[in-house]
Amino acid sequence: MSTDRELFDCIVIGAGVQGSFTAYSLAKRGKRTLLLEQFVLPHSRGSSHGQTRIIRKAYVQEFYVHMMEECYKLWAEVEREAGVQLYRQTGLLVMGPENSESYTSVKNTLLKCSAPTVSLTRENFSSHIPNMVLSPGNGAIVDLTGGVLFADRALKTAQDQFKKYGGVLRDQEKVVDIKPGAVVTVTTLAKTYRARSVVITAGPWANKLLAPTGLQLPLEVLRINVCYWKEKTPGSYHVNNRFPCFILTEREQTDQQIYGLPSNEYPGLVKICLHTGSPTDPDHRDRQRDRSDVDILSRYVSCCVPGLDPEPAIVESCMYTNTPDHHFVLDRHPQHSNIVIGAGFSGHGFKFGPIIGKLLCELSLGEVPSFDLSPFRIRRFEGLSRSAL
Ligand SMILES: Cc1cc2nc3c(=O)[nH]c(=O)nc-3n(C[C@H](O)[C@H](O)[C@H](O)COP(=O)(O)OP(=O)(O)OC[C@H]3O[C@@H](n4cnc5c(N)ncnc54)[C@H](O)[C@@H]3O)c2cc1C
Repeated sequence: MSTDRELFDCIVIGAGVQGSFTAYSLAKRGKRTLLLEQFVLPHSRGSSHGQTRIIRKAYVQEFYVHMMEECYKLWAEVEREAGVQLYRQTGLLVMGPENSESYTSVKNTLLKCSAPTVSLTRENFSSHIPNMVLSPGNGAIVDLTGGVLFADRALKTAQDQFKKYGGVLRDQEKVVDIKPGAVVTVTTLAKTYRARSVVITAGPWANKLLAPTGLQLPLEVLRINVCYWKEKTPGSYHVNNRFPCFILTEREQTDQQIYGLPSNEYPGLVKICLHTGSPTDPDHRDRQRDRSDVDILSRYVSCCVPGLDPEPAIVESCMYTNTPDHHFVLDRHPQHSNIVIGAGFSGHGFKFGPIIGKLLCELSLGEVPSFDLSPFRIRRFEGLSRSAL
């Protein structure tokens, strides 16, 4: 096996949204950066594929709102730099039982952080959001900053800009070993590389990559059924008809969120999914065939989104990598400070791509990160993880 003679400042492993934006941030700062991806790009085997994701400030925790305040600016910066549109503002309708903790916390955080919002009443709901039913006892507030990110385009843009800044992207190069040290050695199926630091952003494969470094995180990989529902009257839920993205914080049949996006990427089809799935192995994703989530969604669609056919027309798959508290892991390896980990994005990480890229870049350069990363430390898992941390 040949060894690349070049000593990189950083090797980023995994070209999903987090790895691509980390590599982009490093190259933009003039660092000699290699981005390695196991599959031929683009691919649909991880968590970052598909045409759309929701972007929003609506969160329970204020730290996410503050991260998003900067992240909106970073998305706009990438759009300007590359001359492409990545974000379309639609508003995000948040609904939930008026007195529930899940709904009131999101609403209170939005108001406390002075995010632009509009509160809807039962009386004016249908004039603002036609073709949708607000369940009895539910409240509704619109996060006006919410909208759609064009996911595939965003991923390609981050990778293209990375290359424009001089970064080296090698796909179809699966990393099979990482040897820690002052200079880290990374071995792929094709070559051996060396770098001053390494960032691991391997999504559902994070623990497989961490194994040679002696660390395992409490991550659970879930297969998600990505369901598309057909409009009975074409155009009734289209983005151009001002239908927003939406989140239902909870419902009788499930304490898991249900979320949806207007029809856009597939004409006449609206994406509505449950914010959970069933455990799977990322190398055998489709062996998992549980569809109990689809039954929950069918019942929801038939009662609350009556303009859609209550059987999904298309079901695709994607994966979440969940931590026990659903907060991310953004930290240095406990034993090897020049190995940085971005993992456990728990089904809500896409919108943060540019800010996560910036923070992982700062960690890999040994800098003090520009946000307080205490909610994202590995230490919080002490006593939970499968090996000593
Ligand atoms: C159905 C669905 C809907 C979602 N909706 C939203 C949303 O509306 N808003 C939002 O903000 N987020 C959303 N998310 C979450 C978001 O998409 C993820 O948090 C994000 O894509 C995670 O990115 P990642 O880079 O960590 O992982 P990935 O995209 O999985 O990237 C990891 C990469 O590492 C590569 N890799 C792994 N092992 C190796 C190896 N050994 N060698 C080389 N390469 C390797 C993989 O092939 C992969 O390309 C959603 C996710 C899903 C599945």
